[in-house]
Amino acid sequence: MIVGIDLGTTNSLIAYFDEKEGAKIIPNRLGKNLTPSVVSFDEDGTVYVGETAKGRRITHPLQTVEVFKRDMGSQRTYHIGSREYTPVELSALVLKSLKEDAEEYLHTEITEAVISVPAYFNDHQRKATKKAGEMAGLKVERLINEPTAAAIAYGLDKITEQSSFIVFDLGGGTFDVSLLELDEGIMEVHCVAGDNFLGGEDFTKKIYEMFLNKNELEESDLSAKTKNHILKQAENCKVGFSKDKVQTICCNIDNQQMEMVLTEDKFKEACADLMERLKKPIERSLRDAKLTIKDIDRVVLVGGSTKMHIIRSYVGTLFHQMPDCSVNPDEVVVIGACMQAAMKERNKQVEDLILTDVCPYTLGTSIINPNARGDNENLYSPIIQRNTTVPASRTSRYCTTYNNQECISIEVYQGENRMANKNLLLDKLKVKVPMAPAGHETVSVTFTYDINALLEVIVKVDSTKETIKKIIKSPDCQISMEEAEARFAQLEYLKLPPREQEENKLVLFKAEELYEELLGNVREELAQAISWFEGILDRGEPEEIEEAREKMERMLHTLQYSPFL
Ligand code: AMP
Repeated sequence: MIVGIDLGTTNSLIAYFDEKEGAKIIPNRLGKNLTPSVVSFDEDGTVYVGETAKGRRITHPLQTVEVFKRDMGSQRTYHIGSREYTPVELSALVLKSLKEDAEEYLHTEITEAVISVPAYFNDHQRKATKKAGEMAGLKVERLINEPTAAAIAYGLDKITEQSSFIVFDLGGGTFDVSLLELDEGIMEVHCVAGDNFLGGEDFTKKIYEMFLNKNELEESDLSAKTKNHILKQAENCKVGFSKDKVQTICCNIDNQQMEMVLTEDKFKEACADLMERLKKPIERSLRDAKLTIKDIDRVVLVGGSTKMHIIRSYVGTLFHQMPDCSVNPDEVVVIGACMQAAMKERNKQVEDLILTDVCPYTLGTSIINPNARGDNENLYSPIIQRNTTVPASRTSRYCTTYNNQECISIEVYQGENRMANKNLLLDKLKVKVPMAPAGHETVSVTFTYDINALLEVIVKVDSTKETIKKIIKSPDCQISMEEAEARFAQLEYLKLPPREQEENKLVLFKAEELYEELLGNVREELAQAISWFEGILDRGEPEEIEEAREKMERMLHTLQYSPFL
């Protein structure tokens, strides 16, 4: 049996798919569905995971760690006792605990899992998550983006009319917005955007800061134990707003009773800057999808923090509609992950769901910065933009930058920064070019990105036709090199440059023909239109090309019957 696991920043869950009852969450050894993603160590080597570890945050703050998911894929280590722990090791301990609970509950050994990750995780973070699974004794069948899992759990595929929806996922430490489109039963994840450093913890921190202010306490004067104590009370206060609009925090600090009474309205006021930050990824995803708020048919809420009234009403105001939260926002991701696991096992109940995916980050290469003041200031040249529906293939052309240059080096990056070296370097390719004056030799660089997170890079020297190729696999990709080669052979049709595609070739041909017939201003006008269309063909965005081609066709039609002919 393959289980689904939501390895959350704050809480983790595990679920399996029952033939008759569908997705079922497996309770942990304490009978709870949520296992806090917290690990604590004792001097004698005992490891505590989950609720017990969370309970030790106050009594043993230096031996207890949490929110380590934020550091997945980074070099950060946690010093506990006499040892250093990596975020991967800590996550593995949480996964191992979930696995043991599931084995106890289902009376069977669990060896395979689908694990969810934020859509914004890069290759290193995904690799780290997969490694954590393996360390816990799990074969990680697939990593699934959290919003994609939520969409599956919401059964959004069952809607019959064409719709667009937003999955708004605010967890403990991350925020993800996904724009999904449904057309003729096909669900497409159109756009993803987010903020890796925004979540429920930031809202808790606001209450914590208000408490320190109110009681004239300086954070630097507090012991780790006291800080944790106040944070815990702040967390209770935040969760308490779900039941009562007025909350009281009491903390005993150095034998002194300190208090704060907080209303939900005051809390909302204090969180105004966080709300503003929530708006940004929403705006970005709508802009990327060329949609407006009015085009969104449904908004669904995911993640523990969407239980906050202030969040629900904020989302309601923003989208002019009340958000849908019919599935428990804590459980929706694990339900989707286990449905995905069931799909893997070809379970009929979810077989009809088709999801296409998007490339979650921009892929590109580096180019010389003419205004550079020093080395390492190369600019980023995006080739496949983030949120492009995959599979996709795009080609860009680059030329030599100095006389008698012998080779061109193509660096492959993933990321959104304007400076190349601030993005994640995936690989490097080098081709020899004939020696010539600067700018004379060109290479065509084709990136093809496949649904399985495989990237094929082809660099072709335009003059000699010499071609080199490399397939870059993401760490969560289980596909062998032979399978990957076969997959890209199937995608050959995508790699045909737009200029070579029949319908575009025809428009260009007709335009060139007409150019020869025309004179004067109209001739100039057509020349400009041809250059404009060629520019769009070079950018390779299918929708943009289609629109431009139609515009060109209309123009050619008008000019053909022009009295100036
Ligand atoms: P997740 O990462 O999805 O498990 O979300 C965990 C976050 O949800 C934590 O910051 C919790 O404080 C928050 N949370 C859970 N329940 C509530 C609630 N009823 N009201 C406010 N926040 C909540």
